[in-house]
Amino acid sequence: MTAVTDIKIVKATTSKLKDVKIENVPFGKYFTDHMLEADYINGEWKNVTIKPYQTLTIEPAMASLHYGQAIFEGIKAYKDPNGNAYIFRPKDNFKRFNISAERMQMPTVPEEIFMNGMQKLIDLDKDWIPAIAEHSLYIRPFMFSTDNLIGVRPSDTYKFMIILSPAGPYYNVPIKIYVEEKYTRAAPGGVGFSKNAGNYGGSMYATALARKSGYDQVLWTDAFEHKTLQEVGTMNVFFIIDNTAVTPSLEDGTILAGVTRDSAITVLKEMGLKIEERKITIDELIEDHKAGKLKEVFGTGTAATISLIKELKYKDYIMTFNVDEWKVSKELKERIDGIRYGKVKDNYGWMFKV
Ligand SMILES: *Cc1c(COP(=O)(O)O)cnc(C)c1O
Repeated sequence: MTAVTDIKIVKATTSKLKDVKIENVPFGKYFTDHMLEADYINGEWKNVTIKPYQTLTIEPAMASLHYGQAIFEGIKAYKDPNGNAYIFRPKDNFKRFNISAERMQMPTVPEEIFMNGMQKLIDLDKDWIPAIAEHSLYIRPFMFSTDNLIGVRPSDTYKFMIILSPAGPYYNVPIKIYVEEKYTRAAPGGVGFSKNAGNYGGSMYATALARKSGYDQVLWTDAFEHKTLQEVGTMNVFFIIDNTAVTPSLEDGTILAGVTRDSAITVLKEMGLKIEERKITIDELIEDHKAGKLKEVFGTGTAATISLIKELKYKDYIMTFNVDEWKVSKELKERIDGIRYGKVKDNYGWMFKV
């Protein structure tokens, strides 16, 4: 890869921040004053620019609109009690971004664009990081193909961008989950482990059906028998069974390797729980529920951190939980958020200073 030249910065002349009630923002609706943009042309990343947030002009023939070479990441930045800005584990997202890129036959993005670009962008817009509990600045890096050509082949040109959005709590209430028995999100050999746009496009129909019957999200199951549990909507899933935290293993390539999942595993170990990353079926879960061993169920993801699951429905078997009695998931959230908001010492090197 050729050396990337400097990141050009064009500053916005005024800030939109004064028009946004930052303590009360809906998730993903408002964007900060600046964005980063870079173009992949003739095998090189060029035109790396931070500039005022603005519309893009595209041609109707732009390939990603038709054939879906489009990937993204989700990261969060926080303020510590002294007002210093930190990003949570961005290098892990950088690595995962390039894993997604490779699977989608897209070029990888060099660390100096992804990491330095993100750091410079956030530094410029750091007044947008809310210094409020449960709030943060959501960082959305993404890449899409830009060839203007109707023909199925990998594009020669791409755009990499980063946009920022102030965020309040994502799912602030315990959620109800529908265990999927018909539709499939990902199969072995597919693209389930990559954070690509199409995975979400393909999931919306089943999710809409679940919503119609009163559920918030789908818990995906394997493509063959719809028995082996995968993940929930935008989150990985954990089951506390007696004193063991069980989470589906990654070896099939059907599950997104969440950074929050990895953080949860680390912190749960520290809390003294046994961790099992393995195959787990709905039948096993129902047995454990009947035996009174299934104590807590929660999702993990950057948007929500830890999302308590108060109900799981599989066919006509409904498991309901009294989340007020739960201890593990609440302590886990407190510990992870403590590190994120700079209130607890970061022993893992997770916080990246802006
Ligand atoms: C992003 C994402 C997650 C959560 O990953 P984090 O790195 O923890 O944010 C889980 N599942 C899917 C399908 C995702 O796209």
